[in-house]
Amino acid sequence: MFFNERIETMSRGELDALIEERIRYTVKYASEHSPFYRRWFREQNITPSEVRTHEDLRELPVISGKTIRENQPPESTDFQFKSVDWKDVFTLHETTGTSGTPKAFFLAWEDWERYAEKYARIFMSQGFGPGDRVVVCASYGMNVGANTMTLAAREIGMTIIPEGKCTFPLRIIKNYKPTGMVGSVFKLLGLARQMIKENIPPQESGVRRLVVGGESFADESRVYLAEVWGCEVYNTYGSTEGTMCGECNDRSGLHVPEDLVHLDIYDPKLQDFLRDGECGRIVLTTLLPAGRKCGTLLFNYDTEDTTLVVSRDRCACGRTHIKILNPQRESETFWVAEMPFNRVDVERGVFQRENMEYLTGEYEAFLYGGDDEGETTMRVSIECLDREKCDRKAVEENFLRAFFRYKPQLAKAYANEIFKIIFNFAGLQDLELYRIKGRPKRIVDRR
Ligand SMILES: [Zn+2]
Repeated sequence: MFFNERIETMSRGELDALIEERIRYTVKYASEHSPFYRRWFREQNITPSEVRTHEDLRELPVISGKTIRENQPPESTDFQFKSVDWKDVFTLHETTGTSGTPKAFFLAWEDWERYAEKYARIFMSQGFGPGDRVVVCASYGMNVGANTMTLAAREIGMTIIPEGKCTFPLRIIKNYKPTGMVGSVFKLLGLARQMIKENIPPQESGVRRLVVGGESFADESRVYLAEVWGCEVYNTYGSTEGTMCGECNDRSGLHVPEDLVHLDIYDPKLQDFLRDGECGRIVLTTLLPAGRKCGTLLFNYDTEDTTLVVSRDRCACGRTHIKILNPQRESETFWVAEMPFNRVDVERGVFQRENMEYLTGEYEAFLYGGDDEGETTMRVSIECLDREKCDRKAVEENFLRAFFRYKPQLAKAYANEIFKIIFNFAGLQDLELYRIKGRPKRIVDRR
């Protein structure tokens, strides 16, 4: 099941040649249409035609969200990264990173078509096809995800039910019998709880596939979600900048649409590429097919997400495009006693299978500094199905065992009381994150 079989199964040699051809065209396009790159090539004395291969991309600067903001109003008179005329800007978007100040992002209709193709490939690699009915619980707003999936459905012959959130009336499920659902792990768990309450067991609802994305998650939470719904759960990774990677039915990593977006994995100092299998920062480059246009062009864009390349070999599904691990957000990595851990590690501790007899899966954590230099206390709040019946000791032990499993240095800091973990067992709807608007921040560093 392929959407674009020739491209998706292209041999490595042919694919690499196509990538380099598109890098050359994209550099040429940038030098002609992007005010930022035009100026940059001039100032650096670089002849665009000399940037020819993927290694040559290292000659170009790494662009951060900050660079984009510094090259848009009010810092500059115009949008320096906009690379088409206004008449060709179909939609404009703002993305807020960790700083809270929005970055402007422009899409031409052609960009939408390419974005939709990426999702169409993902859906088909997951076994979706004509006649499927999919409820999209991701929001239709300044984020492109939900709209892109809707466009992709048109290419495949799928029906989209554009709810935009997971709190829709359950007659939608009863009357239209959707076969798939797109949402976040937590929202789909919440929906399942609601369905069980209203006597519509998720496992008997007819939903055969769930597509999750929008944030990284522990594999334990995916396994639990699959159990609750009694169906397959597929992971996707997308952004307004155009990543859109997705798991195929082999579920051994997320395929990168290598002909349309180029990902390099850099060391943490963003100086050089890492080898396959080494974890580092995802740095993204737009790839344009020859002759095409693009609303916002990015070379070496620092996504601030981390991953590693799992494989460059042909996948069991037949695709040849590389596979990466589920990316994690760098902004959700925290350091204690000179050791890193990610939000996903905390989530893994929560979602231990035996814990789920007592918990909803919702959690939040706060980090506080101690009296002595270098001391950290993490207060983990966990939402209980029934606060009184929760076996707190068992939950704590399961959490700590999973959290420290691959982190012996952190475990040592815990044993030496440099790192303290305290638990708070909250009742339903009692977490602080329920009182905050927007995307919940699950770990807050108050040191
Ligand atoms: Zn595959």
